[in-house]
This record gives sequence, C-alpha cells and structure tokens, in this order.
Amino acid sequence: MIRLVYAISIFFIILSCGRDLDPLVKSYDDVDEVLWSYFEDFEIEAARRGVNIDLNALGISGEIRNIAEENVAGTCQYGQHLHHVTIDRQFWNNASPLFREYIIFHELGHCSLFRDHTESQFSNGRCASIMASGLGDCSIGYNQESRDYYLDELFGAL
Ligand SMILES: [Zn+2]
Repeated sequence: MIRLVYAISIFFIILSCGRDLDPLVKSYDDVDEVLWSYFEDFEIEAARRGVNIDLNALGISGEIRNIAEENVAGTCQYGQHLHHVTIDRQFWNNASPLFREYIIFHELGHCSLFRDHTESQFSNGRCASIMASGLGDCSIGYNQESRDYYLDELFGAL
C-alpha cells in the first residue's frame, strides 16, 4: 500500500514539473488554444520593434467559428469593453500557417493597435500594408521574404 501511494505522488510531481518547465506555452484568457502561439508571436514581433503589447491586459478575446458573410476570413469587433477576434473556420482549415498569421495579425492590428485599413500599394500592385482591406486593388504579398517588411510597417517601425 505504501508503495502504491509513492508511485502516485511521483506521477503528480512529474506532471506538474513538466507544465512549469514548458517555456513555449503562454495562455490567453478567452482565446481558443490554437490561436495562442499566433497571439504570442504578435507580442514578440511587436516587442522586437519596441512596441510593448500585452494582449491579456488589453482583454482581447478570440475564437474560430463560421463567419456567415462570404469571403470574410476574420473580423475584429471592438468597442468600449469589447475587443474580440473571430477567424472563420473554413478559412482556418484551408490556410497555411503563414496566411493564418497574416489574418490574425491584421485583426490584432485593428483590435490592439487601433489601425484602420490602408489600401496603399507598390508599383508592382502588391499591398504596402498588412492592413489592406482585401477589397481594394492591391494583392497580398505576405511571404517569408517580405514578412519582416510587413511587420515593420504594422508596428510603425519603418
Ligand atoms: Zn480589416
């Protein structure tokens, strides 16, 4: 009987240590867990550019669910006490991690940076900002090579 108790306590100690030691998981209140790493990356990329953002402190919630409106990948509702990011489930299921990031960062640009849409573009027709509405003439040019430029622009570091 004593042995059995011993075994159980070891088990719990290992579990709790594992949790404390995992540096990669930052949790966000009222945010779907699959969005957490993107939220954390947003804070990290902001900090790299001298902008301190704490999405928990700002009370930003987020979820993935079906958006009824056609061709809408994400929304950000905000008002006095509301900062809520919604990512469309169908978009989410079909998008690459980079394109998921693009949409989430765009929505957080509204919800945490209070940025409006901008349709400015380069001479090659690429959007000059991650904050393009998607309804203008420019095409999205977000990829591994251009990512740094777009994040500099997003966080006002240009
Ligand atoms: Zn938008």
